[in-house]
Amino acid sequence: MEVKKEIALKNIPTKASQEYRNFPMVPRVVYGKGSFNTLGDILMPKRKHSEAPMIYLVDDVFEGNELINRIPSIFCDQIILISAEEEPKTNQVDALVSMIREKFTELPSGIIGIGGGTLLDLSKAVAIMLTNKGSASEYQGWDLVHKQSIYHVGIPTISGTGAEVSRTTVLLGPEKKLGINSDFTTFDQVVLDPELTKGVPKEQWFYTGMDCFIHCIESLNGTFLNAFSKSYGEKSLELCKEVFLEDISESDSREKLMMASWHGGMSIAYSQVGVAHAMSYGLGYVLGIKHGLGNCLVFQYLEEFYPQGVVLFNKMLSKHQIVLPTGVCTKLSESEMDTMISVAMGMEPLWENALGKNWKSLVTVKKLKAIYQKI
Ligand code: NAD
Ligand code: ZN
Repeated sequence: MEVKKEIALKNIPTKASQEYRNFPMVPRVVYGKGSFNTLGDILMPKRKHSEAPMIYLVDDVFEGNELINRIPSIFCDQIILISAEEEPKTNQVDALVSMIREKFTELPSGIIGIGGGTLLDLSKAVAIMLTNKGSASEYQGWDLVHKQSIYHVGIPTISGTGAEVSRTTVLLGPEKKLGINSDFTTFDQVVLDPELTKGVPKEQWFYTGMDCFIHCIESLNGTFLNAFSKSYGEKSLELCKEVFLEDISESDSREKLMMASWHGGMSIAYSQVGVAHAMSYGLGYVLGIKHGLGNCLVFQYLEEFYPQGVVLFNKMLSKHQIVLPTGVCTKLSESEMDTMISVAMGMEPLWENALGKNWKSLVTVKKLKAIYQKI
């Protein structure tokens, strides 16, 4: 059996398998207000035995919150509170993995991430690295993971990134900010409980929600678009418009944004993001600006690439009276600016999706610099 598996894993992708990508999806999902209460029952059959704990990685914004008491922590389970102040790093993943390995004699039965994209990505990465050797930084890229990860569950508490459905976990490593994109990254189970997103501060709600809106615009206007991505992208965009441009109740809005995030994530699975994401990666790498805000900062100046999207975005900004920071790039040195531009230009698949195979003739250092200077 083992030998067969080895051979299968080393299969070299054929042209057909590259064209017709065989994507994993989240195999199980529970949805609904209060569905968090089913977590104990969901985890029970996944418990290997009492020495193999469930490890809960929880956003520390919930410290002292009643949510912590509702976590079904039994036997030697452990709840680890983690700050989402900074986006996940490869060395943070490595440290968590060695801590878990040292503390427990058995590998955990499961890793459960509770929080926003930051906590979801951390838990995906920890689940992978518990069964794969070396540092998380060695797996940043595409399909470098070859061993099944630990059972892992994603429970979003803020909506927009689509990290709950994606097959990537975006990490800041020593050399690059790049995802671990693999079939083993995708969650085994997701719990979508819109009530958990109560209490998200308004600005943060907007920035993370705009990540979803921008996923839709970039996917729907990309050259990689096909009917699969389009169907999800259109639904997600429709929901985003309801949430950010219409007057609906808060409860409706939480439910709709949670589903918009899901569909937006599904839409980019089979296509790609585009210009805002490529340039936002540069901001994140050099200035540590977080994903959602970074996307907004860039997107406002992308009328050349996404004219209708930018009009809608400006309407959303003004409806919710969001004022984006200014002067963000003014203090950058020449070399920092160059790094930012080269990080952005390095995201080749994103540019190709946005502008086609010929993208290099359309995007110049000068053009990117001019956009960054406005930010
Ligand atoms: P986040 O996880 O960084 O959280 C943002 C802030 O909201 C934090 O301060 C957090 O404490 C707070 N917060 C979360 N839930 C809350 C709640 N219910 N009440 C009050 N405060 C709450 O934000 P995000 O925008 O969801 O995630 C950004 C991260 O997601 C980035 O690291 C980005 O790289 C990653 N990302 C991943 C994917 C993917 O497919 N894996 C896609 C997009 C973005
Ligand atoms: Zn995004």
